[in-house]
Amino acid sequence: MTKKFAAPRGTADILPEESEHWYTVEASAKSCLASHGYREIRTPIYEETALFKRSLGQTSDIINKQLLELKTDKEEGYALRPEGTASIVRCYLENSFDKKEPISKFYYAGPMFRGERPQKGRLRQFHQIGVEVIGTNCKSPYLDAEIIILAMRTLERVDVEGLSLRINSLGSHDDKAHISSWLREQLSKQNQEFCQECQDRLDRNVFRVLDCKKEGCQKLIKSIVKQLPLSKESEEYFQIVQKALRSSGVVFTIAPQLVRGLDYYIHTVFEITAQGLGSQDAVGAGGRYDGLVHELGGDPKVDYGAIGFALGVERILLSRSGQQDGIAGIYAFVIPMTADIQELAFKVTDQLRKGYLAADMSYGTGSMKSQLSRANKLNAKFVLILGEEEIKSNTITVKDMKTGAQERAPLNEIVGFMRLKQGSN
Ligand code: ATP
Ligand code: MG
Repeated sequence: MTKKFAAPRGTADILPEESEHWYTVEASAKSCLASHGYREIRTPIYEETALFKRSLGQTSDIINKQLLELKTDKEEGYALRPEGTASIVRCYLENSFDKKEPISKFYYAGPMFRGERPQKGRLRQFHQIGVEVIGTNCKSPYLDAEIIILAMRTLERVDVEGLSLRINSLGSHDDKAHISSWLREQLSKQNQEFCQECQDRLDRNVFRVLDCKKEGCQKLIKSIVKQLPLSKESEEYFQIVQKALRSSGVVFTIAPQLVRGLDYYIHTVFEITAQGLGSQDAVGAGGRYDGLVHELGGDPKVDYGAIGFALGVERILLSRSGQQDGIAGIYAFVIPMTADIQELAFKVTDQLRKGYLAADMSYGTGSMKSQLSRANKLNAKFVLILGEEEIKSNTITVKDMKTGAQERAPLNEIVGFMRLKQGSN
């Protein structure tokens, strides 16, 4: 028997009826981001493995378990990108944006790859829409607020319902060392009650413990970590972010346990969830990661700032009804009544298309009923019928699919005729 092929595990085909919704989400999100002063950037979907290792940190789950590496003969390895930030910082530095402008605001959209255990809302190839702001002059807490507001607004504009926002501050770079030893001290008191993985993480990278997905560990963490010990400056920074969010009408809760996957996050981190998604309910997340720019080769004399977020498109699509999307149909569907009229039908269709009208034709020879049902499936506004009668009188029958009204139009002026109809509709 011939082998039957299937899409790789954890990937999904996006079929035409779904891609209409994808298009709506991507187009609305991009227009929202562009209207806030962000410009699209497109980087390759694979990079040197070392770039991801450097940016995500050796102790992160993505590096330890999820990186999909490409097989090559070369010494330096490549891997499919698990997220967008590393590539964009690499691109920012490679193209010397830091020499050209004080602040760069990018957005991106595209597939990401992680070797995860596939389940609802968790794929190996999934898609993100995200933004990164990087600059030599962008350390303002108001930018943290802008980014959070922008993430929420983008999700609202693509009709995600039941959003909730959690924010936290991990403090400045200097605070983090202090917070790290404080956390280790607190969590060690109940060391035995954490899962084995968390017990290892306690020594290696205590922030990763807070990110554990296991319910038992999450409960423990919530009971132990009520507030992170921030310095006065960091606390003030965080207060400005909160005040700015309130002034924009953004509702949030403070989650002292919230951390992000990357090691370089400082100050503000956040996560947005949507209702009805079950256990994989995070539709987006982000935060400030100033230190990463130096880590990837930024000028040591420059004090970079960097902040961004990523939204998961599959989860966005799961959490919106999508019924409000107008499904694009064709304008005219041309039906030749007999096979020998196909040549003429082909010419008519071609003329309509040349005239920028969305048109298609029937290549089959089924009954009129089956041809009309095909037109209905294609959401056609009009059906143009060519039979012997029409040819004799040099006309074409135009049927309005909604009202059922029929009229005859002059065959050699059909494009103009259909254009006028479009104008009056
Ligand atoms: P999670 O906690 O769900 O594993 P994460 O911390 O790995 O998420 P990020 O790296 O912050 O997620 O990515 C941002 C968003 O991308 C997530 O909020 C989610 O919507 C989406 N996302 C992440 N991983 C996947 C995946 N494997 N499949 C589908 N969407 C994903
Ligand atoms: Mg994950």
